[in-house]
Amino acid sequence: MAGRSDLTSHAYRTLRASILAEDDTCIWCGHPGSDATDHLTPVARGGAPIDRDNLAPIHGVAGCPTCGRKCNNEKGTRPLAQASRLVTSRDWYAGPT
Ligand SMILES: [Zn+2]
Ligand SMILES: [Zn+2]
Repeated sequence: MAGRSDLTSHAYRTLRASILAEDDTCIWCGHPGSDATDHLTPVARGGAPIDRDNLAPIHGVAGCPTCGRKCNNEKGTRPLAQASRLVTSRDWYAGPT
């Protein structure tokens, strides 16, 4: 039964490579150079683990070469809609308090 997870991670890596080859613009910070993919709907919340439509480019452990953020870490496992609302509301508070 060891084969199943091997197959899954191989399929995931293949899909990730093809997504990043097509577009490596990070869904979190908007800069290019993503080296990872993130699930738009987390698998834990019923998202498809290996589905092109549920995966998007994001900066992984190496961080963003442009802004230095570790986007995948920052986003965590929140769904993108919820996470980007947090980012947006943070931006609203960027002015003087
Ligand atoms: Zn990023
Ligand atoms: Zn960035």
